[in-house]
Amino acid sequence: MSTESVPQPSNFLRTIIEDDLACGKHQVIVTRFPPEPNGYLHIGHAKSICLNFGLARHFGGRCHLRFDDTNPAKEELEYIESIKESVHWLGFDWGQHLFYASDNFEQLYQWAEYLIQQGKAYVEDLTADEIRAYRGTLTESGKESPYRGRSVEENLGLFRRMKSGEFPDGAKVLRARIDMTASNMNLRDPVLYRIIHAPHPHVGNTWCIYPMYDFAHGQSDAIEGITHSICTLEFEDHKPLYEWFLANLPVPSQPRQYEFARLNLTYAVMSKRKLHELVNQHIVNGWDDPRMPTLMGIRRRGYTPEAVRAFCERIGVGRSDSWIDMSVLEECVREDLNERTPRVLAVLRPLKVVIDNYPDELVDEFEAANHPQKPEMGSRTIRFSREIFIEQDDFAEAPPKGFFRMTPGSEVRLRYAYIVRCTGVVKDENGTVIEVHCQYDPASRGGSAADGRKIKGTIHWVSASHAIDAEVRLFDRLFTDPNPDRGGADYKQFLNPHSVEVLSAAKLEQHLATADPEIRYQFERQGYFRPDPLDSEPGRLVFNRIVTLKDAWSKK
Ligand code: ATP
Ligand code: MG
Repeated sequence: MSTESVPQPSNFLRTIIEDDLACGKHQVIVTRFPPEPNGYLHIGHAKSICLNFGLARHFGGRCHLRFDDTNPAKEELEYIESIKESVHWLGFDWGQHLFYASDNFEQLYQWAEYLIQQGKAYVEDLTADEIRAYRGTLTESGKESPYRGRSVEENLGLFRRMKSGEFPDGAKVLRARIDMTASNMNLRDPVLYRIIHAPHPHVGNTWCIYPMYDFAHGQSDAIEGITHSICTLEFEDHKPLYEWFLANLPVPSQPRQYEFARLNLTYAVMSKRKLHELVNQHIVNGWDDPRMPTLMGIRRRGYTPEAVRAFCERIGVGRSDSWIDMSVLEECVREDLNERTPRVLAVLRPLKVVIDNYPDELVDEFEAANHPQKPEMGSRTIRFSREIFIEQDDFAEAPPKGFFRMTPGSEVRLRYAYIVRCTGVVKDENGTVIEVHCQYDPASRGGSAADGRKIKGTIHWVSASHAIDAEVRLFDRLFTDPNPDRGGADYKQFLNPHSVEVLSAAKLEQHLATADPEIRYQFERQGYFRPDPLDSEPGRLVFNRIVTLKDAWSKK
């Protein structure tokens, strides 16, 4: 993978790990990527994946994929499969190290009993609302529950009855007995187990009590021998609890938690709740809609894993919350695609041009380089004939100042082919130009005038009789506002009404008829495109615009 050969910038986690290895604290470092399988991965997760797998790769350690599957109510097998596929797509592999927090349920249960036996956990009968009220606030200490003083025997008996299914959902919970006056709210007797009578996607009907995330996460780290448990900053407040469990349970290892700033990306929403809403309310066409910030979405759109990894490198890893502009991601995509894509000619909004002095039956052939800087990418033959299509935008009957494309009376270069002069137009009954007539200069084959006269403009074209038809989907940002998620406002009011434009009559260079869906192209002067992997088929081509050639948003 490319990141191995490229020197990578340091970050504070690298420094910590280098020190831990240098002083012999660890021989091998072990990290993990711990998604909850309750949705599909998004670009924010890519940051965590690149960080965790990247550190392991860099230091010759390993990175586990662990499903933090403690809440059967929201989790599904479909998400598990999709998450695995997305991690692989990004270019990372967990090898043998696939884990499920739910595989530790028996051990976690034993440890819960252990805490009870140590007098460090009790069964709570208060309702969820009462627990909340007793918990106090940031400025006011909590109040002890009347059930906090239950004996070890009573607690054990009740907890076993919870496990055997005697009580309905929500009737009781198991809580740690820590400190109701702790300034850190997470230490005010946090809930460890709750009753949920629901089958679990990984362990089926084995359990009707499920551990809370906090009780499962650190202990799973310890069981797997994770050395550096890297999470986002909102877990900083949970760290004392993470450490309390490790200190109070006979765990096999002592992982350490480190926090980094999550990725916040402008013009996008990333909360799973909102992404679910966009899908469920049919605002987008599913999780893999090319406008979605999900890995499935950007993959379908045509972003490459290399570009996403380069983006994650570029934004770095720090400890202060910040926003990354969408243009940074788009620029990484452009840089990668600029290197790898063959260039082709495609006319998205065709206007017919007839070259009146070009012989009727003649077909000219030109050899066009696939990449201007990379002769090794070869060339292809493009055909020219009497009737061609150009972009509607490339013709102006009354040109604005500085317009160097096709206008009546002046000359323009047809890319790779000839210089032509527009001699007249045909209009429909509404006055719209539907056909343009030209004369070509036979001495300008290849695009330069024999007498050396300068031609300012060059436009692209396709031969009408050779071009193939395609639908082209122009995707743009899903939101018009950089912070659709900003406090209080409904993010849906910022939806971009032009986030997709479908052009159904595009005309493409002939050899795209057999376009491989995995190949991306630069449509010259237009942007980067690829066949849609689901909707495109031979005979009915559909191309997605991956990204424009230039950032059009910074000027808005
Ligand atoms: P939710 O949207 O429901 O809060 P989540 O994004 O935290 O969920 P998880 O499945 O718990 O979803 O995330 C898996 C891992 O990815 C966690 O370690 C989490 O910290 C990390 N992660 C999630 N979002 C981001 C983000 N925007 N930037 C960096 N890492 C993230
Ligand atoms: Mg989470």
